[in-house]
Amino acid sequence: MDTLRQIVCTGCGVANRIAAGKDTTAARCGQCHTLLVTGAPVDVDDTAFANHLKHTKGPVLVDVWAPWCGPCRTMAPHFAQAARDFAGQAVFLKLDADRNGAPARLGVRGIPALILFNDGNEIARQAGVMTSAAVGAWIRSSLPSATSRTQP
Ligand SMILES: [Zn+2]
Repeated sequence: MDTLRQIVCTGCGVANRIAAGKDTTAARCGQCHTLLVTGAPVDVDDTAFANHLKHTKGPVLVDVWAPWCGPCRTMAPHFAQAARDFAGQAVFLKLDADRNGAPARLGVRGIPALILFNDGNEIARQAGVMTSAAVGAWIRSSLPSATSRTQP
């Protein structure tokens, strides 16, 4: 599976490169020394979302939700568990559809919606509640594997 090669610091928004094979769980931002990998979803607004997509090298999964949405609340602990499972391998973001324009621009019609990006490009999308196991299987099946990268 493709992994993270560059992460945006949630503290200051600066992009930090991750050396291959390095333990990302201990990596800190070179600018503000915030831990780069927490294993928790990060709440983002339009600006932070765009910054993550632009500067993250590797997988980014965004959960589009809203406070009034019951299924979104059902989804939340599963998304959080998947974020722990993929700590250091993928960035997990939460985007409030009521407060931001990005979901409409992305054509999201129903929530919860999960959109998976790799190197800033959308590669897969799912609507509706998923368990953490289903989220994990979906991420693994959607991302290009390390071996398939070398194929023509
Ligand atoms: Zn920072």
